[in-house]
Amino acid sequence: MSDNTELLAKLLAAVTTIQSDQKALASAVDAINGRVNALADVKELKDAARPKTPDGTKKQVVVPESPSNEERAPPSEVSQPAQKKNSRIILTTYPGQGGIDPVIMNWGERDPAKRGPVVVARGSQTVRRRNAIGAHGGSYSIYHALALAINELKADHKPDFTNTEPAATIGPFPQWSDPKKIVAMDPYGHLAPWLYKDYIDKEGLEIRPTIAVTKAHMRLPELERSVQSGRLQVDGKIVMNESGELAVTKFAVEPVWYLPGVAERFGIDEGALRRSLFENTGGSFPELITRPDIKVFLPPIGGLTVYCFGDPAKMSDPNVKLALRVHDECNGSDVFGSDICTCRPYLLFGIEEAVREAQNGGSGVVIYFRKEGRALGEVTKYLVYNARKRGVDRASEYFKRTENIAGVKDMRFQALMPDILHWLGITKIDRMLSMSNMKHDAIVEQGIPILERVPIPDEMIPDDSRVEIDAKIHAGYFTTGKVLSMEELQAVQGRAWEDVDH
Ligand SMILES: [Zn+2]
Repeated sequence: MSDNTELLAKLLAAVTTIQSDQKALASAVDAINGRVNALADVKELKDAARPKTPDGTKKQVVVPESPSNEERAPPSEVSQPAQKKNSRIILTTYPGQGGIDPVIMNWGERDPAKRGPVVVARGSQTVRRRNAIGAHGGSYSIYHALALAINELKADHKPDFTNTEPAATIGPFPQWSDPKKIVAMDPYGHLAPWLYKDYIDKEGLEIRPTIAVTKAHMRLPELERSVQSGRLQVDGKIVMNESGELAVTKFAVEPVWYLPGVAERFGIDEGALRRSLFENTGGSFPELITRPDIKVFLPPIGGLTVYCFGDPAKMSDPNVKLALRVHDECNGSDVFGSDICTCRPYLLFGIEEAVREAQNGGSGVVIYFRKEGRALGEVTKYLVYNARKRGVDRASEYFKRTENIAGVKDMRFQALMPDILHWLGITKIDRMLSMSNMKHDAIVEQGIPILERVPIPDEMIPDDSRVEIDAKIHAGYFTTGKVLSMEELQAVQGRAWEDVDH
């Protein structure tokens, strides 16, 4: 008997060892896969960019090397590493100034070597060669500055990108080299350290990715209920199990603006855009004014995340259906379940429909933009809530309350939003899981047709958010239901504070 127990214990130990070895092996294979994918992407881009001979075959040409590493005489202003204590502060630089030698940047160029890397760091090796204004990390650039200020982070830290390669292959698409289609992100941002390795290794330049691609599982309690009620089926691939666990590929994107393209998108002059950005960020970026030769700006704002269900290659396949939700952040509802708006219900409806489309052999995509409170921020949002709840919270007054405080009813300005669709290779949207006319118009204006618009089902709309949704529908949001008149909107009222105990 005791012999048997001992034998069983030995067997169990052996199985456990095999399991853990298996896991280690799987993760090693995954890591190698990532590297192979990234290298394949780099090769494909370089091949695609090679000029073709008249008979259509590819001609072997030498890919231009990055500029030589010869010493350039630095000007006195930049002779000291910028971040050394007591070194002279470089307030700004000028074009043609001695020692200032920006790395090439030809936005929209098809060959990534000729396009050039985005170089924005101000480290001692990099400051002379910058071809972009701003800083990496979007709004987190300020925390980066703080980490350096308190010496938590060494100024000469060199990122180690081993095993960080994209977990899925994407593109290249013709849209990547159309300077009118992508103006708010770097189409080569996911491959920057590998495409521009020579600049990093030979010149010591600091070049970082502005896009990262990973794979994950996600669990949402509402989707567990969708599985239980039979609205979602477990397939073991996209819906992993009865608890509604989803497999997803995620793309995080930081903003990289090509200023002439951004200005054109809004129909304004580049100079006017640069001046407004300079003046209204407290003069933080003087090179917006002094360096008209630098056209790229990494703004200190939030980025976006793409959640792709099913095979990422299907996003750009015109022969399969695509369901898409473009969602703007609403932390109070998305994460904390506030019932004053339809944000989380619509987000979940979007995820569920996206998953269903992917399971039907198509593609399902949800894109999450960090544009809290219509890009007005939570402080303004809460002020508006107060003004609504202290008065009578009527749908007819909904937008006026925001306008009274913020001066505008919305600052999301969707004109730059479709860039991510171009980058993903999307050329049409079969089912748009959004009622926003602003999102619809921005996408269609960019030449991407929307075949069907799908409103949030009525039963998913919380009572207190009728004020918001009815006001939006009245203002032009898409609906298959009724558009209320101004008189009817006056009758749509939200809960007052007194209705609940605090
Ligand atoms: Zn909301």
